Amino acid sequence: MAHRVTLLPGDGIGPEVMDATLEVLDATGVDFAWDRIEEIGTAAVEAGREALPAKVLDSIRENGVALKGPVSTPVGEGFSSVNVAIRQALDLYANVRPCRNLPRLETPFDDVDLIIFRENTEGLYSGVENFDERLQIADSIARVTRAGSERIIRFCFEYARSHGRNKVTLAHKANILRSSTGLFLEVGEEIAPDYPDIEYEDKIVDNMAMQMAMYPSEYDCVVTTNLFGDILSDLGAGLVGGLGVTAGANIGDDEAVFEAVHGSAPNIAGEGKANPTALMRTVVMMLEHLGENEAAQSVSEAVRGAYRDGEVLTADVGGSASTGEFAAHVAERVGRGA
Ligand code: NAD
Repeated sequence: MAHRVTLLPGDGIGPEVMDATLEVLDATGVDFAWDRIEEIGTAAVEAGREALPAKVLDSIRENGVALKGPVSTPVGEGFSSVNVAIRQALDLYANVRPCRNLPRLETPFDDVDLIIFRENTEGLYSGVENFDERLQIADSIARVTRAGSERIIRFCFEYARSHGRNKVTLAHKANILRSSTGLFLEVGEEIAPDYPDIEYEDKIVDNMAMQMAMYPSEYDCVVTTNLFGDILSDLGAGLVGGLGVTAGANIGDDEAVFEAVHGSAPNIAGEGKANPTALMRTVVMMLEHLGENEAAQSVSEAVRGAYRDGEVLTADVGGSASTGEFAAHVAERVGRGA
């Protein structure tokens, strides 16, 4: 039976990397029934609708799974992030961002294989903000709850256990933000003994950033609050070749939205320069989530094979191929089972 999945190509480079990725998915032979919705963000607003139309959430709720391209957020004014709104509306509390080297792609290290587990609904992104016009004082509240901390930390440990990973590092700033990230650390210390088979440690987030930049192979699963996770996952992406190659997933108890870490990259949109590797690696996660493990393995191997050969790659990773040429090359590798 076909998998029913909501498809949101997004804007900027979104439609380009989505087309490329669909070509590769097509080559796996897995049957999908896509519920494709183009009107979201700026496109929806220009059509006189809400930036996040209700039909988007309805469709994801009905299908349980979405594959999403980036959606631009205007800076400072206009509508607020629909990306954050989707995560909050569907309570997609676990943002999972694996950072793993690709063969022969030159980066400062060649043995990075870590996963950032970012709490996705609370912290400084809770949307609890106030601006006092008269005094010109702006407040953003970092709301951390015990329940919210428990579920993401447990998610991380469970993932580590089920994926044969050995270590969890909790990143925090409990020395300064004692109340909010202090609670997150406290919950981590309470949960860790339930997983005696997994090594546990904590690190203050500034040190964590330095550790990741200098000794990334020491780290395996890193769990942290929302803003820290946002920053550390881009750092992780930079360690393995940049935003063009880094996958991501937003997972809740009932729904999962799969999207690459990168944004809409307006500086290269429409030029055929975007690297679809990040979204292709994202569909590897989606295929695993759908129980299509063989297809997941086959897409993963096809992407890694393309990098191992290094003949057809996009410009951001040192090649000269267009988005479409790279897609055709990877799809051909999937098709022949390489
Ligand atoms: P960005 O990720 O779009 O771009 C940062 C840099 O990385 C740019 O130089 C870009 O060209 C490059 N880049 C990104 N993806 C690439 C790819 N696949 N291939 C090659 N190069 C790539 O970040 P930004 O410039 O900060 O944000 C642009 C817009 O995207 C903003 O409106 C922002 O709100 C939005 N955004 C959306 C999401 C999302 O939908 N989840 C995430 C981040 C940013």
